Amino acid sequence: MCGVVVTVTGTVTPTAPTTLTNADRCDRCGAQARVRVVLTTGDLLFCAHHAKAYEDKLRDTAVEWVDETDLVQP
Ligand SMILES: [Zn+2]
Repeated sequence: MCGVVVTVTGTVTPTAPTTLTNADRCDRCGAQARVRVVLTTGDLLFCAHHAKAYEDKLRDTAVEWVDETDLVQP
């Protein structure tokens, strides 16, 4: 048995935008994440409070700024 050959093409293309869930936590304080910030180095998750706190610093470098405040289930 040679095992299963898994072909990885490198880039995972999501079929739908990633939506934050209540399992996603702010990287700074551990509160429920409301905003996803995509940077070239990776993703950051912030609660509403910290999203505002870091917005000025990160907006310019962020690849994507996804505010899901209205989508996150309480
Ligand atoms: Zn926070």
